[in-house]
Amino acid sequence: GGRLDGKVAVITGGASGIGKASVERFIAEGAHVVMGDLETGRGEVMAQFHGPKLAFRTTDVKNEADIKALINLAIERHGQLDILFNNAGSAEPDYPVDKIEAATFDHVMHLHLRAALFGIKHALPHMQAAGGGAIISTSSVAGIGVNYGPLLYSIAKAALIHMTKTVSVRLAPHKIRVNCINPGLIATAVFGRAFGLDQDAAEAAQPKLEELGAFAQPLPVGGSPADIANAAVYLASDEARFVTGQALVVDGGLTTG
Ligand code: NAD
Repeated sequence: GGRLDGKVAVITGGASGIGKASVERFIAEGAHVVMGDLETGRGEVMAQFHGPKLAFRTTDVKNEADIKALINLAIERHGQLDILFNNAGSAEPDYPVDKIEAATFDHVMHLHLRAALFGIKHALPHMQAAGGGAIISTSSVAGIGVNYGPLLYSIAKAALIHMTKTVSVRLAPHKIRVNCINPGLIATAVFGRAFGLDQDAAEAAQPKLEELGAFAQPLPVGGSPADIANAAVYLASDEARFVTGQALVVDGGLTTG
């Protein structure tokens, strides 16, 4: 049997990178997945490929009504929600402090912090009714060190880690576990764009990552979306039944020293 047999999972940002790898791993482990993403074309192609194991809904996680509709879709189709993976996100420019504008600040905080919290808000009644659940969010090494990401992105990801810990305590009495993952350098569109690569080039850029000694990543291997998806499977599964309020770092040792 699979490690997620019988579970229903909602995954955001599932059309690319870490989210896409997670959709595939969750399905391979026996879960039914409902995914949301801005990218309708990519999402529909994936839903067609996976058939009844995957439902797709065009979703902007900055829009609370969209989040609610995505979670409702899981309930309509499967009658339950066991796992929520708040993963949608994007690379953000590194604004100088004196150039930050309200709209930019709001965008980054909505996408990387508010979306995850509102996802939890709308998943909560269903998980509470079911007597438990597992929530995961994708934070970043940028949320734990000050030199791994752009300014506002790093601030939002740090807040996401603290949100995870704070909310985990509030939801523990309901047996709802709340954890996050802090990926290091992963070859996806987000990371590829930082090197001027398009998405497909980024996915083929693994060997390039190994040349990036400047990042001082101790393990001489390129991180892949599957490495994060594997961590997500663990945190989503009953194997992690005693784990909550944690930020699991998956970074090849980048932040150790
Ligand atoms: P990606 O660009 O490959 O995938 C992100 C997905 O999120 C895309 O499909 C995109 O369409 C979707 N998305 C963006 N904005 C959205 C919105 N408003 N509503 C719904 N969907 C939206 O990037 P990725 O690297 O797989 O990123 C996934 C998560 O991992 C992000 O939260 C990112 O911050 C985080 N992360 C990535 C790295 C890395 O090195 N790649 C490192 C640390 C953290």
